[in-house]
Amino acid sequence: MKYDYAIIGGGIVGLSTAWQLQQRHPDAKILLIEKESGYAHHQTGHNSGVIHAGVYYAPGSLKAKFCKQGVTETINFCEKHGIAYDQCGKLLVATDAQEYERMKDLYQRCLENELEAEWLDDAEALKAREPNVIGIGGIFVPTTGIVNYREVCNKMAEVFASLGGEIVLSHQVTDLAEDSDKITITTEHNGAEKTFDTDFLVACAGLAADRVTKMLSIDIDFQILPYRGEYYLLPPKHNDIVNHLIYPIPDPDLPFLGVHLTRMIDGTVTVGPNAVQGFKREGYGKINFSFKDTLAMLLFPGFWKVTLKHLKAGLMETKNSWYKPGYLKRVQKYAPQLTLEDLQPYPAGIRAQAVMANGDLVHDFLFAETARSLHVCNAPSPAATSAIPIGGYICDKVAEKQKA
Ligand SMILES: Cc1cc2nc3c(=O)[nH]c(=O)nc-3n(C[C@H](O)[C@H](O)[C@H](O)COP(=O)(O)OP(=O)(O)OC[C@H]3O[C@@H](n4cnc5c(N)ncnc54)[C@H](O)[C@@H]3O)c2cc1C
Repeated sequence: MKYDYAIIGGGIVGLSTAWQLQQRHPDAKILLIEKESGYAHHQTGHNSGVIHAGVYYAPGSLKAKFCKQGVTETINFCEKHGIAYDQCGKLLVATDAQEYERMKDLYQRCLENELEAEWLDDAEALKAREPNVIGIGGIFVPTTGIVNYREVCNKMAEVFASLGGEIVLSHQVTDLAEDSDKITITTEHNGAEKTFDTDFLVACAGLAADRVTKMLSIDIDFQILPYRGEYYLLPPKHNDIVNHLIYPIPDPDLPFLGVHLTRMIDGTVTVGPNAVQGFKREGYGKINFSFKDTLAMLLFPGFWKVTLKHLKAGLMETKNSWYKPGYLKRVQKYAPQLTLEDLQPYPAGIRAQAVMANGDLVHDFLFAETARSLHVCNAPSPAATSAIPIGGYICDKVAEKQKA
């Protein structure tokens, strides 16, 4: 039997695509393949759980458009399916003169992106909004929210299946072969090989995006590098320490750096994430190491170039990863009352960051394709927020390709 569509990846991008494809093509036979025993086991299930408003992104860019649309569509999805969310708002806090200057640009960007934003001119205005946080000014963005993306994924899988979609879990795709009328997908399941044929393939493989893309001999000039994002959990006595999410004013060159205080939807508060070079793509512990992943990285020129380009920031992140007082100092910039004992263990996440051979970090979505396939090669934050519009966009792209 041949499927009309197959999707690789049970993270939020793959699930959103599968569900929306099935909705658009009710009679199509659609298969979703995931190597783990459930959904959202990697980036999606290890993120901060923030529904981003879309403050940082270049006005008019796909990222800005998808993010804004994603807030509305994620909230509608949660409302429709009874998933808890909280639009608690986010406070961007400036702690020194340089950050205050950058804050002006960021406020301008909020306006250009047509986001609701409140300018907090000084320490007092900040204190009035957030009594336990210190700084010299801030921007309040009320549309930012929080949700548990694992729950969102489980529901997307349920909806996809209820529309007639098929799912195989614990099936790792090990090979792909394309010919004039199909793609054959080889998987490994409990030590046995199994194949599936499909008319069209969409790959949303996150940390394995480059490897899956290469299975179809597509010539690519990027590699996925793993950057671990480590969190701490605050003890329950601090569950009410903040009313909103507290974010730094980012360095425009490295917008994902800077730990934040995040209220989680279960009522707890986390601190993080940092960004530390990983040596195993799916290794969540500090000392996890994979010879295969590390060798591939060391042989990739882009790894050396990006590492040298951001050497100072990288060394600082690594130092603070091992030296908890360094990490604490970052947080104390906003919340001086927190102590070392307040930083309790919490699972890390790993960003699948596409890096070009010239060392450039890819900040936007990146796609690759063949006649019968479309590969999502880079889906960086806020791809969880934007997953529903991204899924819709992928469905459009697939339709365009099939028409051509
Ligand atoms: C630390 C961290 C914090 C973040 N915080 C936020 C946030 O607060 N808000 C936000 O919007 N975004 C956030 N993001 C970004 C967001 O989580 C990701 O952009 C998004 O989850 C990407 O989803 P995905 O489906 O592309 O990837 P993934 O969730 O990684 O899913 C890919 C799936 O493909 C499967 N797979 C891979 N290879 C194979 C194979 N060979 N065969 C079968 N299956 C395979 C994997 O098992 C996995 O389930 C964060 C990311 C990180 C890492």
